[in-house]
Parts: sequence; C-alpha cells; structure tokens
Amino acid sequence: MTVTTEFAREAAEFALAHGIVRYTKEGAVTHLPFSLTPWQAEKEFVDKTRRLTPLFNELYHRVAQDDAYLESTLKEAVAADEFLGRLAEAKTHELAGKPCLYLNRNDCMPSSTGPKQVEMNLMASALGEGSAAVYEMHNFLFRNEAWVGDLVENKAGEGLAWALAEGYKQLNLDGVVLFLVPFGEVNVFDQRILQVRLQRTFGVPTAKATLEELGDEGEVRNGKLYFRGQKVAIAYFRTGYAPPHYRTESAWVARQKIEATETISVPSARTQLANTKMMQLHLALPGEMQRFMSAEEAAFLDSGNVKFARLHDQLTWKGQTGTAWELAREMHDDWVLKPHREGGGNNFFGDELVELLPKVVAESADAYILMEKIRQPSFSSIRLVDHKVIPCECFTEMGFFGLALYPEASGQAAFNKEQGYLLRTKDESMNEGLVLGGYSFLDVARTS
Ligand code: ADP
Ligand code: MG
Repeated sequence: MTVTTEFAREAAEFALAHGIVRYTKEGAVTHLPFSLTPWQAEKEFVDKTRRLTPLFNELYHRVAQDDAYLESTLKEAVAADEFLGRLAEAKTHELAGKPCLYLNRNDCMPSSTGPKQVEMNLMASALGEGSAAVYEMHNFLFRNEAWVGDLVENKAGEGLAWALAEGYKQLNLDGVVLFLVPFGEVNVFDQRILQVRLQRTFGVPTAKATLEELGDEGEVRNGKLYFRGQKVAIAYFRTGYAPPHYRTESAWVARQKIEATETISVPSARTQLANTKMMQLHLALPGEMQRFMSAEEAAFLDSGNVKFARLHDQLTWKGQTGTAWELAREMHDDWVLKPHREGGGNNFFGDELVELLPKVVAESADAYILMEKIRQPSFSSIRLVDHKVIPCECFTEMGFFGLALYPEASGQAAFNKEQGYLLRTKDESMNEGLVLGGYSFLDVARTS
C-alpha cells in the first residue's frame, strides 16, 4: 500500500477529532501512534482469543476469592516483594463478601499453535476508547474497499462504560464512580471520554481523584466511603498498579478505606494479588486450572499457556534438564524475565536477561519469574507517529476486554462477556508493547 500525504493527513485529523490523543511532556496534545493499514488476522486466532476471555474472567474471579490458594501460591512472592506485601496488608482491611466487578483485558499473541496469553489484566485496562476510535477510523479511511466489512468490530469504549453503569444499576448503588488516576497522567483523554459516556449515556455520576487525595480526604461513615461530600459507589482504578503510584502513605490509606467500606473496588486488593505473574505461573502448572474450572474449560484455557518457571525450578527445555535460570541464561532468546510489576517496561529480554539473572538469583529469586517467549511470524505494516508515516516489520498482540459482575462474591456471574479489543502492533525490534510508552501503536484486525 502507498500512503499519500493526503491519506496520512485524513487519518491524523480523524485521530485528533476523535480523541485518539495524549498530552506531550510540554502539555501540548498530539495523536497516539496508530496503524494506517489493518493487521491481516487469522479468523481462528481472533475467535479463540475472544472465546478465552470470559473463561479467564471466571477463572481469575474464582482464584481471587480463594484465600487459602492466594496465601499458598503467593507466600514467597509476598515476602520477597515489598509492593505485594503492601497489597496483602491492604487486603486484611477488607469488608468480606463484597460484590465483584471486573473490567479486564486478556492479552494474547498469535503463535503457530494458536493464541498464547501474555497476561490477563484485571486492573486499569486502558485504551478502550482509543482502540475503538481507530477501528472507526479504518472504516472511514477504507470506505471504498470491498473488504471494509471484514474489519473486526471494536466497541471497547462503549463496553467499559456499559459494564460500570450496569454494575452500578444492578447493585442498586448510589453516589459516584470515582476514577482514581495518577499524578501527571498523559492518557487523560481515554478516561475523559469514558467519564462523559457514563454521565451522558447512562446518567451515572462520576468524579476523579488521586489515591493521595482520597487517602487524605476520604471519610468513612457507617461503613460507607465519602469523598468531598459524595458517596463513593465504585472506586475505578486507573492507577495503583505500580509502586510510583503510591507517593505517600496516604495512597495506602486510600486502599484501606476502599477495602474497609461498601465501595466496590475495581479491582479489589485480593483481585490485584490474584493478578500477579507468580499466580499466572501457578495456574499454568499441569492440572492446576482444574481446581477452579471444569476439565473441558481447563483444557481450553491451558491451550493458551506457554511455559513458566521459577528461577530455581528444575526445568527441561529443548532436551536439556537443569536449573531454570541457568537454562534461561544459556537459551536467552527463548525466555522473558519478569518481576511482579504491571504497566509495561519492566521485563528483561536477551542480553539484559543474561546480565541480570545471576544478580536476581543472589538477591531475590522469588520476586521474578521466567516466561517462555512467544514466537510469531513478522508482517508488514505502516504506522503514523507524530504525523510521520513509518513502514515497519511487525509483531502484534490482541487483548479482548472482559466484563463481568458477581453480585455475590461466591455466586454466579450476572454478566460475563467480552467486548472490543486493544490491538497493539510494534516494530519487530521492540520487546515491550506499551502504546503510551511509544513502543507500539493502535491497530485494527481484519479477517480475510
Ligand atoms: P506488564 O504487566 O508490564 O504489561 P506484560 O507481561 O504484559 O507486563 O509484558 C509487557 C510486554 O512485553 C507485553 O505486552 C509483550 O509485548 C512483551 N512480552 C511479555 N511477555 C512476553 C512473552 N512471553 N513473549 C513475547 N513477548 C512478551
Ligand atoms: Mg501487559
């Protein structure tokens, strides 16, 4: 495909007009990186990634409710990692049996044996609005192409707003949905559109706060949490997944207040604990998912897993048996070293992994896991970054948003479905996949 200046301008103006934007460090507004041509996806890959999503919602919900399992699987990680230790402490303040509402995202990469899960996100899953808008953009740009109907529909932003509003309605809540956001957030536009949708489409009142503000100003009265005079019906986290989001003790006080009151926490501390790399590792062990799901469901979920290892595990890999970290150091192109951190930019690949492994093993082996690197064939794409057209050889990653509500923590889901997706494509030279970090760009899937 050749991209004319006019085509690129049309695309960029669509992006600016529809909120596919972010703040720059200087406070100006620029478009997010996005693709100028859709990714040609295998229909089976898209269908299977989609079908896995509600099942992963269910699995992680059940895991998060199981105190004994959380305790036994995460004991070492919680002891080795201060941040996880703080989360475990926040959980001790919890008012038991609260309803559970989830706005998840199930990130998968294609491989020769179908979708493989990179990770499940049960917290702060962003860019629903931006990715849905890029889908609308491709529909507009390719309006004269016969294949335009093959673009995979993406109504992710509407889905996220619907789930918050539907949870609010079904649980008969009153008060506000409080968006918890970090200091200096550049991705405010994605949140702002969601906030406006809640207010205007669904009539659900909203407010915004940082964790510190809620910690300092949140008032607990009769088991309910109030912020600046308004009852907090739902605390919707778009922050809180990384240590820098807790600048002072007040941020942890906010977590405790949310846990201790009737406020629905999206996600709760227990959900966030379930959403750790160590838990993902455990759930990928043979037979483990069957503790929570039927044999048939477990087998289907398991087909999305790659190999995981703790650093000191005995591992057999490509015919060699040995200590996992030593094998990973030797066959460093096959593995990713992951700390218990969310938010992108934290993992170690290739030479970095080789260098870091001995140090990590000596200092805090339980604070890391090893994950098999997912392989996929590269493909050609074209991206627009800062108004520049850049052709590239790429890899991609598709995450369907998973929406679920359990009015009773131990009961059946009132709804559990997928809606819309984040497709992040990146240059094959890139290991990580953050859009806002500049590693990847928003994309659209096309089947046939
Ligand atoms: P985070 O919680 O920081 O988002 P992820 O597990 O999602 O951590 O990893 C960040 C990115 O690194 C992913 O989006 C993906 O691009 C890349 N990545 C992670 N694990 C793998 C893997 N096993 N194989 C290939 N790439 C991976
Ligand atoms: Mg991720």
